[in-house]
Amino acid sequence: MSEKNFDYDVAIVGGGSGGYAAARTAATDGLKTVVMEGGDEVGGLCILRGCMPTKALLYAAEVMHLASHAEPWGIRAEDVSFNFKQVMARKNALIKEFADYRAEQLKSGKFDFIRAKATFADAQTVELLEHPVKSHSRHGAHTETRTGGRRIRAKNFIIATGSKVAPSPLPDLDDVGFLDSDSALKLEHLPKSLTVLGGGAVAVEFAQFFVRFGVKLTLIQRSHHILHEFDSDGAIELEKVLRREGITLYTGTKLLGAKQTGNHKEVSFEHEGKTVRVRADEIFYALGRVPNVSGLGLEKIGVQLEYGRIVTNHQMQTNVPYIYAAGDCTGLHEIVHIAVQQGEIAAHNIAHPERMKQMDYRLLSEVIFTEPQVAAVGLTEKKAHVRNIPYLVATYAFKDHGKSLIMEAKDGFVKLLAEPTTGEIIGGLCVGPLGGELIHEIIAAMHKRMTVHELAAMPHYHPTLAEIWTYPAEDLSSQIASSRLRT
Ligand SMILES: Cc1cc2nc3c(=O)[nH]c(=O)nc-3n(C[C@H](O)[C@H](O)[C@H](O)COP(=O)(O)OP(=O)(O)OC[C@H]3O[C@@H](n4cnc5c(N)ncnc54)[C@H](O)[C@@H]3O)c2cc1C
Repeated sequence: MSEKNFDYDVAIVGGGSGGYAAARTAATDGLKTVVMEGGDEVGGLCILRGCMPTKALLYAAEVMHLASHAEPWGIRAEDVSFNFKQVMARKNALIKEFADYRAEQLKSGKFDFIRAKATFADAQTVELLEHPVKSHSRHGAHTETRTGGRRIRAKNFIIATGSKVAPSPLPDLDDVGFLDSDSALKLEHLPKSLTVLGGGAVAVEFAQFFVRFGVKLTLIQRSHHILHEFDSDGAIELEKVLRREGITLYTGTKLLGAKQTGNHKEVSFEHEGKTVRVRADEIFYALGRVPNVSGLGLEKIGVQLEYGRIVTNHQMQTNVPYIYAAGDCTGLHEIVHIAVQQGEIAAHNIAHPERMKQMDYRLLSEVIFTEPQVAAVGLTEKKAHVRNIPYLVATYAFKDHGKSLIMEAKDGFVKLLAEPTTGEIIGGLCVGPLGGELIHEIIAAMHKRMTVHELAAMPHYHPTLAEIWTYPAEDLSSQIASSRLRT
């Protein structure tokens, strides 16, 4: 096909975080770009139903918790109460602001933006499926169809179609019905009791939100600990706090079934050799997400999938060299800054094939926004064992640290992993107050390939939470010094 037959240099399917980042980069690099967004609302998962609404709610839960646990500071706040409608309204107002801003960015005119669902007709053509768009005027809401049947041909594509809630593993569950992270964000009333299925980020964040607003909560996790991708000492610390806050937590379980019993939904599961039955008003389903690739016609154009995710190399290129992919549809991480970085790299590589960039996952980080927060970067002990990577490790507890004692934030610890001879920092874990902020010191240190000796020598203001990192750094620095003396 000759160059002039293409409508665009790059066509991006999906206008979420990954798609928008790709479009901004491609347009800045001078490529004629179009973004096609097929969702009912514009904004993508992070803004509409992911990072932002959940963190807004968790922060409200934190304020609620602090207000009702102020005695240690000599403060008596009696009859702390809340208005759930207002809690949700504040979240909704924030989300609307973020979504409106994202819509403005997408419509900035730097690239074309089309509200339509795209499906591949062939490897260089997408067909835009009719998309009913609700709009509001003085005469009320009405539905209009903006596009339909139109075809777009592009020299390159970036697929950034995100993820969706994984289908439930038990038909019984579908029959009784459940909340998931999408529908829970639209609740108008809190259930009195809730059974949470799953122990990953979404499960534990929602669980703490609900329990802090007085919902009787049971959490059922298949693995032996929640947050199974983290080191188990970190997960155990959070389990301790969740139990203390009133959550009944079962780990090491196998789901057996679900049924409606009167006004309640009953979940049965195997635990320590016995069948356990838990009844609650509602079930919250948090057993993961899957890449959103159905209906794209990828089988037709030969884009390789593995376990449902689009396979790419580190340049974000699929097996079809002019088709790239970014974000959750590539499946492995489901973290928004990774989606953004992947989108930027895909667009850069299309614009500059002579100097391609690649993703570097050395600084891969993850934050769980519970209290205590759980945040990790780089290598964990778990990964080091699997990959047989030698490391030295040191930890320090928040219960022995000045600033956290001031804050009565005594749960958790920090952990540093270092390369045994050079002392280069290769991993960090923080389970504790503002862990998601504190981990950035280690991200910065690892970005610059700092050693524990350098981190220990770096000035830290007193009394701060951040100075806690100097203790494991000093510990590791002296471990390395004494092993040098021995050899
Ligand atoms: C409850 C929850 C909390 C989260 N919290 C965090 C957090 O705190 N921090 C963090 O880093 N990550 C968090 N995440 C993950 C994060 O939201 C995602 O990793 C990120 O938003 C993925 O961005 P994306 O661009 O890949 O996908 P999306 O933002 O989902 O964008 C995909 C877009 O493609 C559109 N689309 C799909 N198919 C088509 C098609 N055929 N044609 C046209 N358009 C199409 C969709 O409508 C959508 O707008 C959370 C996720 C959830 C569910």
